[in-house]
Amino acid sequence: MDLGIRGKKALVCASSKGLGRGCAEALAEAGVDLILNARSAGPLEETAESIRSRFGVNVTAVAADITSEEGRAMVLDAAGQPDILVTNAGGPPPGMWTDWDREDFIRALDANMLTPIALMKACLPPMMERGWGRVVNITSQSVKSPIAALGLSNSARAGLTGYVAGTSRQVAPSGVTINNILPGIHATDRAISLDTGVAKSQGIDVDTARAQREATIPVRRYGTAAEFGAMCAFLCSQHAGFIVGQNILLDGGAGNSTL
Ligand code: NAP
Repeated sequence: MDLGIRGKKALVCASSKGLGRGCAEALAEAGVDLILNARSAGPLEETAESIRSRFGVNVTAVAADITSEEGRAMVLDAAGQPDILVTNAGGPPPGMWTDWDREDFIRALDANMLTPIALMKACLPPMMERGWGRVVNITSQSVKSPIAALGLSNSARAGLTGYVAGTSRQVAPSGVTINNILPGIHATDRAISLDTGVAKSQGIDVDTARAQREATIPVRRYGTAAEFGAMCAFLCSQHAGFIVGQNILLDGGAGNSTL
């Protein structure tokens, strides 16, 4: 399917690896020029070069912490006025409700709620002026089915979801859509680190921890970054202009609910 977005420009945050990279590759395959971002310059430049050589699109790489004000300023400066914005950042650490104080919540809210909101506030006005834009926020399945150990993530992402629910309706008349994709477990470094934590706490090896987790998913495997990216690219396409303020769960059926 031609996604109809060849020649557009996308800012994809936190995209040297994992789900962000999956989104960047799928957009590049659709002919979209990219601004990529991550904190570590080496892996980011490798990803940028791989995407340039495979898809022939223009790729600018900006090494910066997207959750800091200075980092965001650098990234937004390089991005100019993107047609497409994909927000993403690392997730907060797991723990127990007794572990977290005000400062922990402020950090989580900054990274996973206020950072995407700041990016949207910067990128939405030119999209609205041009009458076309697409925003996809990478959130988490925890918005629908809380993961007890990820209380910081549950809280921050629920806040972002509420913001998107209202804001998406305010910008839709200008041809701009905002939607969230909610990853269930996907085979990325983040999944390895969560499995390693489970393995340590249960005194088992990482492969056993992963096999246990896969057994709880109806498709009996983890999702891939390529599958995730394909959904992101579709939501950014010309075909998705009637999809507004939605939360698309990609979890292999793990969340047991009717709606
Ligand atoms: P990942 O494989 O660990 O990749 C994270 C990417 O983001 C890397 O490119 C990393 O590069 C970059 N990054 C992290 N923090 C950043 C920051 N502050 N500023 C700029 N770049 C940053 O993670 P992932 O699995 O793709 O997860 C992406 C998001 O989805 C996370 O918020 C995660 O919590 C959420 N999620 C993932 C899953 C899953 O199963 N994978 C499930 C639910 C939710 P640098 O380290 O070099 O910055």
